[in-house]
Amino acid sequence: MSVFEYAPAPESRAVVDVKPSYGLFIGGEFVDGHGTPFKTVNPATEEVLSEVAEADAADVEAAVKAARRAHDRTWSRMPGAERAKYLYRIARIIQERSRELAVLESLDNGKPIREARDVDVPIVAAHFFYYAGWADKLEWSGYGTTPIGVAGQVIPWNFPLLMLAWKVAPALACGNTVVLKPAETTPLTALLFAEICQQADLPAGVVNIVTGAGATGQALVAHPDVDKVAFTGSTEVGKAIARTVAGTSKKVTLELGGKAANIVFDDAPLDEAVEGIVDGIFFNQGHVCCAGSRLLVQESVAEEVLARLKRRMATLRVGDPLDKNTDVGAINSAEQLARIRELSAIGEQEGAGRWSAPCELPDRGFWFPPTLFTGVSQAHRIAREEIFGPVLSVLTFRTPSEAVEKANNTPYGLSAGVWTEKGSRILHVASQLKAGVVWANTFNKFDPTSPFGGYKESGQGREGGRHGLAAYLKGGDL
Ligand code: NAP
Ligand code: MG
Repeated sequence: MSVFEYAPAPESRAVVDVKPSYGLFIGGEFVDGHGTPFKTVNPATEEVLSEVAEADAADVEAAVKAARRAHDRTWSRMPGAERAKYLYRIARIIQERSRELAVLESLDNGKPIREARDVDVPIVAAHFFYYAGWADKLEWSGYGTTPIGVAGQVIPWNFPLLMLAWKVAPALACGNTVVLKPAETTPLTALLFAEICQQADLPAGVVNIVTGAGATGQALVAHPDVDKVAFTGSTEVGKAIARTVAGTSKKVTLELGGKAANIVFDDAPLDEAVEGIVDGIFFNQGHVCCAGSRLLVQESVAEEVLARLKRRMATLRVGDPLDKNTDVGAINSAEQLARIRELSAIGEQEGAGRWSAPCELPDRGFWFPPTLFTGVSQAHRIAREEIFGPVLSVLTFRTPSEAVEKANNTPYGLSAGVWTEKGSRILHVASQLKAGVVWANTFNKFDPTSPFGGYKESGQGREGGRHGLAAYLKGGDL
């Protein structure tokens, strides 16, 4: 039961014109695909939003050709200062159309409008502004000024527009052209982005969007005229892609899964830490590669932290993603919901204690309540595997070295959080954590100037910041 009532405050979906069907975006135009069109649904209602074209191998071929032509004839030859003008224009249009983009992202993905509006879309615009600034300053990048060529980019469904921005902005700033495949369940904001490219008069073929499922992605990464593969998604598919490109001259960056430890020491300000734990695992329904999905709490404060955490979780508002009050939206797909349920059932079988926030879930759509597991041990599958949902595994530790050892005891190494009052302890612990990003007394902070990426099975390469240019310049791997 919610502790207080509130009036619904739904955002209007009338601000966005969702078309009944969409084609592929190739060579600056929307064209029919040769595959079998598929439907994308609103996971909060199961309503079909649109029918979207599926790109087959011939369509991927056409898109790569268009990208090659645009690369060779215009984009790579254009002075950086001219490319920057297009990127600034795209960034400004994203800001102007931010409400439309946020509503469409929420509809297609299920994420709360508050997050799409306040997190995803502003960071998307910031990314384009940031890399627009680099386009005429590449000689100071440290990686030379020569683009790699045509980039084939494949992205997941958890941050559809944000992952597009992380891939497209640096690629274009460096003079590459792109063919991007969005995830099957969330193609719509990429297609609206294609309209924004038209509105910005971006030269035809610089950005191409091929929608479809895994087979379309496979055709793209295997295409012989793709010079660079950039992938964000699961470790399993990332390994398959690494095998596909092995032995070719293609360059590859992989942003894969994670199982981050959020470490709370007994001297941490506990209410702030609880907010950070909640943000770490329930932001975006826990569909976050760097989610703080393993809480490591010092034994002396574990009981207190858990009591405060449960109290806080009981106030989370789960439901209509378009309601501005909503904290936790819908699970992105029936398949993902099934996976979360399966791993949670395994957690119970393994003997962990399950507790879910007492919230009412809508009848239609894909929903899972904010949940935590106590009494989790290192060997449990829910401590090792990525659940990619609103499910937190709680473990305890006694000493800083035990915390570090447990935090690093995972095949992943994407991110981690440290909560303590002592600056010296932050530095001491953070320096021992094998994670690409370590947040201290905060969590899930993203900024285009800061590189992001993983160790071990969380991937290779960095996105964001000056380091993110390395992936798109020939001198990046020297
Ligand atoms: P996924 O199954 O690996 O899919 C990612 C993308 O790859 C989708 O567009 C997918 O197409 C496509 N794909 C599937 N099979 C392919 C193949 N054989 N060849 C080429 N492309 C293929 O991952 P997901 O379940 O959508 O996303 C969740 C995962 O992404 C999690 O593991 C998460 O940690 C990770 N992630 C990582 C980061 C990061 O920066 N490190 C950021 C966000 C997410 P369809 O989905 O359309 O079939
Ligand atoms: Mg959808």
